Amino acid sequence: MPTKLPPRIDRHAHLEGSLDPAWIRLQAAKAGKQVPATLEALWRREVINFEGFIEAFFFVCGFIRSAEVAKETIRACVSRLAPPGEGTRGIDLWVSPHFLVKQGAFLSLDELWRGMDEGIQEAREQGVYIAVIIDAVNHFGIKHGKEVLDLVLPEKPSWVVGFSTGGLERVPFREWAPVFDRARQAGLRLAAHAGENGPGSNVREAILEAGVERIVHGVRAAKDPAILELLAERHIALDSCISSNRALVPDLGPHPLPSLLRAGVRCALGTDDPGVIPCDIPWEWQQAKGLGLSEIELEALRTHAVEDAWCMALGA
Ligand SMILES: [Zn+2]
Repeated sequence: MPTKLPPRIDRHAHLEGSLDPAWIRLQAAKAGKQVPATLEALWRREVINFEGFIEAFFFVCGFIRSAEVAKETIRACVSRLAPPGEGTRGIDLWVSPHFLVKQGAFLSLDELWRGMDEGIQEAREQGVYIAVIIDAVNHFGIKHGKEVLDLVLPEKPSWVVGFSTGGLERVPFREWAPVFDRARQAGLRLAAHAGENGPGSNVREAILEAGVERIVHGVRAAKDPAILELLAERHIALDSCISSNRALVPDLGPHPLPSLLRAGVRCALGTDDPGVIPCDIPWEWQQAKGLGLSEIELEALRTHAVEDAWCMALGA
């Protein structure tokens, strides 16, 4: 039965959150840096608040200081897919170049793109297609969003296909709309982290006000039938990251993936930040199965993963 096998695609991973934990620990020790308690807690699969996650995420960002590390991180992402077998494998990979290059000044944009390009080409030789989505930080505001596009658009690598917001959902999507418009006009597809650390209504606003075609998480919208209908009617792709949601959405309760799927929402699985919140695609698949999904629902997860993945368009 095909549903015995995990999906071939990681529909949502962040480059920065994919560094190997053992490597981070080693580098921190070499640099004499204390690993933050928040990161230690996440490595132990404890539940923490989103502000704590941001601290852990920014800490690991500080280790992406060369093209070689960027390339190695992509290798780590590939290693977390289901093993090679039948069917093309792929990753939709988020990255926040402005934070790495400008705010953190950890490496140059040329170094980041060179390392990623080498990693992406190497993956492709192994039959793994990788598309990159540029992530702007919602709570840094739209001035930051404009700067992200100023940085990326002039010499955009061919594997950059999308624009997204992440971070704390503090700035309303209607305010972000002009930034999303500019990204769309530059040929980028649009996604947003929404309904994760902010209210479910952010999902509606991201779709209707900012025009996104893809939602990351959306867990807080699962109890609102009108938003579920909107997601289903518009065929919005939804990236579902079970381990991440369990760690960062303290009042989540049972994971709403079954409710989302049963409402006709096109969900697929992602690892999100597997170097911060340890997991891989086979593990996420086991978590999905543990939610009591039917064979048909599991098959839907696999089908959506391929049909809606932006990396698959690069391989067409
Ligand atoms: Zn994410």
